[in-house]
Amino acid sequence: MPSRRSAERHERNIRDLRALVDAGSRSVVRDMAASGLPTTRRKYPLPCIGHRSGKLTVTGYMVGARGVRALIVRCDCSPDEYTVDHHNFKDFKSTRCNLCAKQAASKKRYWQYAEVMPNDAHRTRLLNRLSAAITRCHNAGNSRYIHYGARGIKVCDEWRNDRAAFLKYIQTVPGWDDPTLQMDRENNNEGYAPGNIRFATPTQNTRNRRKIAELEAELARLRSVISRAPT
Ligand SMILES: [Zn+2]
Repeated sequence: MPSRRSAERHERNIRDLRALVDAGSRSVVRDMAASGLPTTRRKYPLPCIGHRSGKLTVTGYMVGARGVRALIVRCDCSPDEYTVDHHNFKDFKSTRCNLCAKQAASKKRYWQYAEVMPNDAHRTRLLNRLSAAITRCHNAGNSRYIHYGARGIKVCDEWRNDRAAFLKYIQTVPGWDDPTLQMDRENNNEGYAPGNIRFATPTQNTRNRRKIAELEAELARLRSVISRAPT
């Protein structure tokens, strides 16, 4: 999946090229023959305008002092033009824009997940539970992080890297298909991992949390007793 940084780079690429086109820059060439630039003696012939690779169509050339630096292309999904390395284009490494690549990846994930858990409602609900758990355990900006991530509560790597593995496992836990139950941890001081997940009624869940709160209060009381004890 393209990272946020590569999406930003892609946006910048589109903006920069549009600025050059709007300014009528001579480095943007639409007709090689008319440009007078040498087209022969290239190891790999340049694709012509209109040449396609996957969803991309060549619409021009970006030239520098040493000839063609990049191809200008447009993806089927958008009128925006951007530049790609012509070797990547030739080798079919560039066959679609970032957005299309991202969509294809999410579609692929969707089918991977649907295969493991065909019921849409259950799958969506449980994936949302997992996402919420990942957020409160791994995103320090989350308001509940202090009760989770800050206490060392984590979501196991396997589930963070492969949510289909989570979906597969969760179906072995009794109550997984009852939407009235909450996904809870068996041991409150351990993370979200196989063996530590249960489905509980909201009351059971609160009781579990309260027990921990009581224990923590007791611990704090004992600590203060110890710290005041004469040495
Ligand atoms: Zn696209």
